[in-house]
Amino acid sequence: MEYEAPIQNTKYGVCTIDAKQDGKIINADKDFVEITGYTLEELKGKDMNYIKLIVEDERSDIFNYLKSKTTKNGMACLEHFMNCKDGSAVAVSCFTKSLGNGYMDVMLTKNITKVSDKDGSGYDSLTGFCNFNAAEAEISRILMSGVEHCHSVLLFKLRHINRMEEVYGRAFAGVVIENAAIYINHQYCGKGQRVVLGRIRHDTFLVFQCAAEPKTVEGIADWICSEMSKCYYGRDARISGGMTAGICHMPAESSFDEALLCAEKALQYSEQYDELYEVYNENKKYSDIKPVYKNVSGYEDKERVLNYDNRFVSFAVAMLASAKDPDSSLDLLIQRIGLQFGLNRVMINIFENSHYARVTNHYEKGKGIIVEQNLVEDMDDRDGFFQRFDSNGCMKIKDTMLESISERERSYYNKYNMRAVVNFLMYDNDKLIGYVSYSASKAKDEWIQNKLNTLMQISRILSLFITIRLHKEENEQRYESLSIDSLTGLSIYAAFLEAAKKKLYEFDPEKVYACIYADIDNFSYINENFGYEEGNEILKDYALRLQKVRSEGSICCHVHADKFIILSIRNSRKEIEKTVQKVNKEFNAMSRAMYPMSDMRVVTGIYYIDDPGCDIVRAVDHAIHVWKHAKKNKYKTYAIYSDDFANERRTRLKIVGSIHNAIESGEIEAFMQPKFSMKTMKVVGAEALSRWRNPDGTYKYPDQFIPFLEDVGYIIDVDFCIFEQVLRAMSEWKANGKKMIPVSVNFSRQHINHDDFVARIMALTAKYGVEPKYIEIEITESAFMKKPEKMMRFMRELREEGYKIDIDDFGTGYSSLNMLLDVPVDIVKIDKSFIDDYDTQLKREYINQIGNLIQTAKKDIIFEGVETQEQIKFLTDCGYENAQGYVFSKPISMKNFEEKYIYNI
Ligand code: C2E
Ligand code: CA
Ligand code: CA
Repeated sequence: MEYEAPIQNTKYGVCTIDAKQDGKIINADKDFVEITGYTLEELKGKDMNYIKLIVEDERSDIFNYLKSKTTKNGMACLEHFMNCKDGSAVAVSCFTKSLGNGYMDVMLTKNITKVSDKDGSGYDSLTGFCNFNAAEAEISRILMSGVEHCHSVLLFKLRHINRMEEVYGRAFAGVVIENAAIYINHQYCGKGQRVVLGRIRHDTFLVFQCAAEPKTVEGIADWICSEMSKCYYGRDARISGGMTAGICHMPAESSFDEALLCAEKALQYSEQYDELYEVYNENKKYSDIKPVYKNVSGYEDKERVLNYDNRFVSFAVAMLASAKDPDSSLDLLIQRIGLQFGLNRVMINIFENSHYARVTNHYEKGKGIIVEQNLVEDMDDRDGFFQRFDSNGCMKIKDTMLESISERERSYYNKYNMRAVVNFLMYDNDKLIGYVSYSASKAKDEWIQNKLNTLMQISRILSLFITIRLHKEENEQRYESLSIDSLTGLSIYAAFLEAAKKKLYEFDPEKVYACIYADIDNFSYINENFGYEEGNEILKDYALRLQKVRSEGSICCHVHADKFIILSIRNSRKEIEKTVQKVNKEFNAMSRAMYPMSDMRVVTGIYYIDDPGCDIVRAVDHAIHVWKHAKKNKYKTYAIYSDDFANERRTRLKIVGSIHNAIESGEIEAFMQPKFSMKTMKVVGAEALSRWRNPDGTYKYPDQFIPFLEDVGYIIDVDFCIFEQVLRAMSEWKANGKKMIPVSVNFSRQHINHDDFVARIMALTAKYGVEPKYIEIEITESAFMKKPEKMMRFMRELREEGYKIDIDDFGTGYSSLNMLLDVPVDIVKIDKSFIDDYDTQLKREYINQIGNLIQTAKKDIIFEGVETQEQIKFLTDCGYENAQGYVFSKPISMKNFEEKYIYNI
């Protein structure tokens, strides 16, 4: 980093240090040498380093701050005191830039005057206004000197200063406050009026206006507030900025305290109702408030605006270095430059390839910041243009109408009404990156040297920041290329999370945001039957479909395998749902056409993000959950996370989280539903059904908890819990010499995943000494759909051990009747839906057929869900014997069951 000879009173010293070695000084330029008073050799010597240059008490703190901030952000800015060789300590502004690998450049400017005194001279150093105490004292003085006329108390409050601090940093907010003070000052001072100006809170100004017409007072307030609402408040659309006022026209006899309180009430009112200002009206009702006034001098440190000769330069450095959003800060800074130097335009132009310059930041007098991104200028006579810059990288044009420049350049200046212009070149090390233009709308006799010097210094600082911005962009691009999944061209998950966070940070309330999770169901079918290549083609195909419909700002991500996540940003929910539907429909149609046997289809879960503060990982999690839900329904290709779904999910989590505790503490109870012979009307068996006892003695029914437990596999613990209760009861019947009746117990399809299923059943049966022939294992028909071989093996083994196997809900699954010939089953339970309506001849015929078939296959038959005498008659007429249903008995507690059917026989 090379800096030319210092200009007038501001010196820039630059040194390069190695932060890894306590700031060992690698090199320093002659201004740095001059500021410190040491020779270059001494500075580079082994006993010296940057830490030693910092005044003792805060050494390591300051150095660590510089080091960590520079490593993290590429730059840092701080003021500290520096030890000079002659033993003096000077205040310096220090600005660092990372060179990578722990090396950094440190640029110093010597602060000529110290920051204004901190112990509250009565003036706020940021704005130069009185602080509260001083304002109050001054106002009392005026009032004491005799009041004849009516005075007015005005309070001006800036909107959203705290949000600005959060988003753009303190320095930014400080400038907004300072700008407001400039407007206020401008309106009241030097106009022959008697006023007191104060800053009484961080964001609130007090104006005491003597003896003015109420209409005039209000007119000025109106002007200030409406002008302020046009000012620049950063690029974040959520922060509106602006100013609101409360006014109290003070009757001659009232005190200042009273008037101030009334002004506060009016201020609060106008703020609440979003008015420009409100004039206190004693007939109106305002809410009661107790305002707090602070002397705001304590803020100056944080606002980091300094009060010395080269104040503007330091201000620029501080402003940019503490910026959270460089572009917004650059904008604000060039606006300030424009105002301060009476310019009509300030533009930062960045070169793009060899012929173009793009305007990245643009201030125009009267319009403020112009955020028009695509202002690109073709530069035809580039060489000629460069030749007109002097050795300081400065080009002065006193009058663009008269200067001998190309016609294109002239028309360019003309277009923007730039009559007198200075351009400064900007470098990134040795590479030319662009130039800053400052212009006035009137021709000049001469640009004032002092002004030029400051502009030059500011331009250098701007160029450093732009360099950093450019590097940041480059890094981001590099990062982007690494964050793309090579197969699909979509983002990888980690990059998606980062990008999505940013998008949510820029949340636009006009738009609808959705986190969408998509997964291709049965995708493995393709991999297994057609190979991975074909599988990859499918993934690419789907990714392409996503990209085709991708809306502006949306991010698509390929997580892995057949899983995709999208952050969709569109105008309406309807638009999002329509798009999802369209993509899914087309993909699924393709799938059916190309792989008719595969059952492959894409299913999507949609979670709408209403809260921009929402954690993106959570949003993904919600989308996955609702996707799981969608997947269960064969006819749906997407589902939306709704309040109902959220409630269901809460219930689900509660159930899943408390089931083991419930089992332990005996809340899961086996209820028994007897099975009857329709011939003898005697009990021939029973089915154990689970119930979850609530603390108040009521019960939860299986459909309220079993599906959730099936999903996570905890159902198997419930099954064994019920099974054990049944075994315990049976062993007691046996011990009491009672007649044993067979009991069936439901076992979920989930057991298929546990190889010890059979062994566990046998061990428990043995533990209670119950004979397996009294035990029926009920497995639902659909459990034979997936991995039927394994299920069949289990059943075969259990049968060999003497257990009976029931096939439950027969007729609801997809298995053909032929299946019955192969499955190792003893009893077939015909589902309730078969006897619910048997009134047509055809149905009767069908029920008969089934019965015949089952009997041919030598299975026992039982009908479940029998509710009426007619059904009994029908079934007995058809020749069937066994049934279960409400007409005989509902499921009842074990105790009840035993009393009724075991111990009374
Ligand atoms: P399921 O195995 O088909 O059990 C029969 C269900 O029908 C029981 O409901 C029973 O109360 C009901 N029911 C019996 N007769 C009639 C009738 O005449 N009319 C009507 N409308 N319903 C009748 P429940 O007890 O609510 O159980 C529902 C389902 O929950 C069971 O269907 C079974 O699939 C499952 N389940 C219950 N307990 C367990 C268990 O311990 N383990 C497993 N894995 N599943 C269980
Ligand atoms: Ca059952
Ligand atoms: Ca059933």
